Amino acid sequence: MSAIEVVEPATAEVMAEVPRGDADDVDAAVARAKEAFGEWRAVTPEDRSALMHALADAVDERREELATLEARNAGKPIGDARGEIGMVVETFRYYAAAPQRLLGDTIPVAGGVDMTFREPLGVVGMIVPWNFPLTIACWKVAPALAAGNTIVLKPAALTPLTALELEKIAVQAGLAEGVLNVVAGPGSVCGQRLVEHPDVAKVAFTGSTEVGRGIAAAAAQTIKRVTLELGGKSANVVFADADLEAAAVAAPGAVFGNAGQDCCARSRILVERSALDQFMGHLEGAVKGMSVGDPLADETEMGPLISADQLETVGSYLDDEAPVAFRGSAPDGPGFWFAPTVLCPVSNDDRQAREEIFGPIASVIPFEGEEEAIAIANDTPYGLSGSVWTRDGAKALRAARAIETGVMSINSNTSVRVSTPFGGFKQSGVGRELGPHALDHYTEVKNVYYATEGS
Ligand code: NAD
Repeated sequence: MSAIEVVEPATAEVMAEVPRGDADDVDAAVARAKEAFGEWRAVTPEDRSALMHALADAVDERREELATLEARNAGKPIGDARGEIGMVVETFRYYAAAPQRLLGDTIPVAGGVDMTFREPLGVVGMIVPWNFPLTIACWKVAPALAAGNTIVLKPAALTPLTALELEKIAVQAGLAEGVLNVVAGPGSVCGQRLVEHPDVAKVAFTGSTEVGRGIAAAAAQTIKRVTLELGGKSANVVFADADLEAAAVAAPGAVFGNAGQDCCARSRILVERSALDQFMGHLEGAVKGMSVGDPLADETEMGPLISADQLETVGSYLDDEAPVAFRGSAPDGPGFWFAPTVLCPVSNDDRQAREEIFGPIASVIPFEGEEEAIAIANDTPYGLSGSVWTRDGAKALRAARAIETGVMSINSNTSVRVSTPFGGFKQSGVGRELGPHALDHYTEVKNVYYATEGS
């Protein structure tokens, strides 16, 4: 079997080699998951809940080791990686409460009793990206397990290490072999096979809109259930009556976090023209003050990009015409480094404002008034997240409701919490992860009618 060479983005050196899975490996994993399904769905709610707590404990015990592995493999700051592994633990704990709460309805009908059940789907295929490798995987794994499904998870070929560890941890925590299977390999081979496989009931995908479109089309052949968490080009709307300093100081984290490789990146910063100079003054200080460097150093706020290819793609947006307002710093030497960059003024028709750059480039777009702000925010095929900054509460709520996006925050850039739903409008996706809503996407509703007065 050939190997995947896993590269450390901060050094451009190979840090590990893992077996490269192929379609036969996917078939074998699906067969194991299918075999394990009957037993897993029959585990009592109490025991399934206890096993999910055991899994949370087992990840928690290895929190620092997993965080370090993720920080090295994805090039993310260790502080962020610790937070992400913490979120994995929290996600398993949150859904550990679900097996006893998968409630059905009783519906009044003539002649008998009508009731509904939430049945597991069977084998769920999961395909995840490289930017938040274990965290995004577990947003899917935890609700799927809680609902009684078994799993074949395909991590991104660039970042397979923590998912492969999770497969081992699950067995150590007491889950039966075959309940959670991981196959690392190329998307066009392993991902594709999962999507086509007749024994896979559902595919849960996070990745680019382009690949997601192909997955939706291929899944249609077997009428597979599909949830898609795709790209974004989110707007951070700053009105002149906002706390401008707070908005500006928070903005770099919302677009340069994870080196801009974040589907929720607020990469379009819409600023009311009358406040532009003041906002840009605060923003410049915040961007130039960012600590960009070694992912394993505690003070680091931004690491490198994931790969040489990504570096080239992101660099292509900084052509001669790009209106660079200011840039932060980045180390020289090996590794895929790109300094945080702010462009201003950008038109919403410019390429930098239309395409998901997935790197640390922010476009500042001036606007006049509420109506124009909402029109610009909505002038994109995407609709994942966004923010509104203003001291006018009614305007904040009007804008938050009018902007076509799945996740909004007011006077904050928060996107994701374990207990609240996350997902996209428009071409940013289908379905919701996290919170109570995710369970709907890992269960089928079954209706049973029991005749009590003859048949
Ligand atoms: P990608 O679409 O290239 O790859 C995602 C996954 O799909 C990988 O595991 C890849 O191997 C697999 N894949 C690739 N081709 C495939 C195919 N033909 N069939 C099946 N699987 C295939 O995305 P990426 O570059 O890894 O991640 C970046 C993208 O992910 C960005 O667009 C970003 O916005 C998006 N993303 C979205 C969310 C969200 O929750 N909405 C979160 C993180 C990332």
